[in-house]
Amino acid sequence: MTPMTALSTAATWRKRAACQGIDPQVFFPESDEDAEEAKAICAMCPVRQPCLEHALAHREREGVWGGTTERERRRILRQRRKSA
Ligand code: SF4
Repeated sequence: MTPMTALSTAATWRKRAACQGIDPQVFFPESDEDAEEAKAICAMCPVRQPCLEHALAHREREGVWGGTTERERRRILRQRRKSA
């Protein structure tokens, strides 16, 4: 994949994001316990998987991405490393 393809792929999934127009603060909760509202939106999002993969690839440290908190993404990365 060329960088331009990667950019246009990212732009494509972002355009379909269910969180468009929603207060970004919803996706940056104070704690994992406060992440339920964001997770509920992500659960209905058609681009949940590419969003999650983007967050994993870029080691996004803050916020809910693809229905996961930062702690959950760290767990996914650990599991993937173990099974690699
Ligand atoms: S999965 Fe969640 S954070 Fe990602 S684009 Fe969809 S609604 Fe937004």
